[in-house]
Amino acid sequence: MELLKQRILCDGHIKQGNILKVDTFLNHQMDTQLLNEIGKEFKHLFADQPITKILTIEASGIAIAFATAQQFGNIPMVFAKKTKSKNLDGELYTSVVESFTRGTSFEIQVSTKVLSKDDVVLIVDDFLARGQALAGLLDIVKQAGATVAGCGIVIEKGFQDGGELIRSKGIRLESLAIIDSIENDTITFRDR
Ligand code: 5GP
Repeated sequence: MELLKQRILCDGHIKQGNILKVDTFLNHQMDTQLLNEIGKEFKHLFADQPITKILTIEASGIAIAFATAQQFGNIPMVFAKKTKSKNLDGELYTSVVESFTRGTSFEIQVSTKVLSKDDVVLIVDDFLARGQALAGLLDIVKQAGATVAGCGIVIEKGFQDGGELIRSKGIRLESLAIIDSIENDTITFRDR
């Protein structure tokens, strides 16, 4: 997605440890127009799938899932929660995710009320690094007995193993920008 790549080059910042900061347009301040374009692109890529629900993980995935769900005709979007809360009662699907950015593990939870075997799910997220967040979300979809239509990622870090991990499971993975390297403050994208 050319618009996204240009924005990453213009406003992205490289931090120590191969972390790309995009908090002026995606992770903190959000460019709503860009988000709408991201939603349209995911709709375009997965238009052939009978998707009933968009699933993501809080917090950065929420706006992306919302923009995408609107494009699929305002279907529901669900975000997995990272903290236990009284608002999330009853039976839960849970999975453990190792955080790439924080170096810790945490449990994600989704109520059994909002995901069922009848759902066809598109999973979306902001970044794909080692694939742990996606693996946790895929585990939750499996527990629900639902069907995975695929995964839509805004920025895949192609020099880490997450993409390979997900694709090797036979899961359709579409990334709007794949970064092949971040070296000497230079971002190189993979040609698609
Ligand atoms: P994974 O689970 O694939 O290892 O990492 C994905 C999660 O880690 C994403 O949900 C994202 O929040 C975070 N993440 C991974 N790499 C980066 C990065 O370079 N920049 C930012 N901002 N977040 C990242």
